[in-house]
Amino acid sequence: MYCPFCGANDTKVIDSRLVADGGQVRRRRECLACQERFTTFETAELVLPRIIKQDGRRQPFDEDKLRAGLLRALEKRPVSVEQIEAALGRIKHRLRATGEREIKAMVVGEMVMAELKQLDEVAYIRFASVYRRFQDLNQFREEIDRLSRGEPVEPDA
Ligand SMILES: [Zn+2]
Repeated sequence: MYCPFCGANDTKVIDSRLVADGGQVRRRRECLACQERFTTFETAELVLPRIIKQDGRRQPFDEDKLRAGLLRALEKRPVSVEQIEAALGRIKHRLRATGEREIKAMVVGEMVMAELKQLDEVAYIRFASVYRRFQDLNQFREEIDRLSRGEPVEPDA
């Protein structure tokens, strides 16, 4: 990287150590041109990706909105707050793990549905019917029939 003092691009690392419980690397560098020393910090980028809505607009990831969506689907269902928070945590983890800076809202919706499918089938159907907009009533009915027969839900059903 360029020296912040003289702009030369010849710098060497003279010391490197983990800081912040290993969450960061602190590097001492020395410029080979002017001999000034400076410090850089390196951190893994863990920001959540921005959400690309269907109309192409971008929005910052909104955890509260996601939680509200889950709570709405799970209203009066026998699922604890802890289970909901754990599901939220898994979704955020998966979003970060994609390494993407932007991600389609649809992909997030699929992650939510996968979690709801595990938590509560009624909530899953509630969410899916709104989110996926079942193309017609038959498709919706088929999904409910399949669930009531205890058959696994096809991933792309
Ligand atoms: Zn320099």
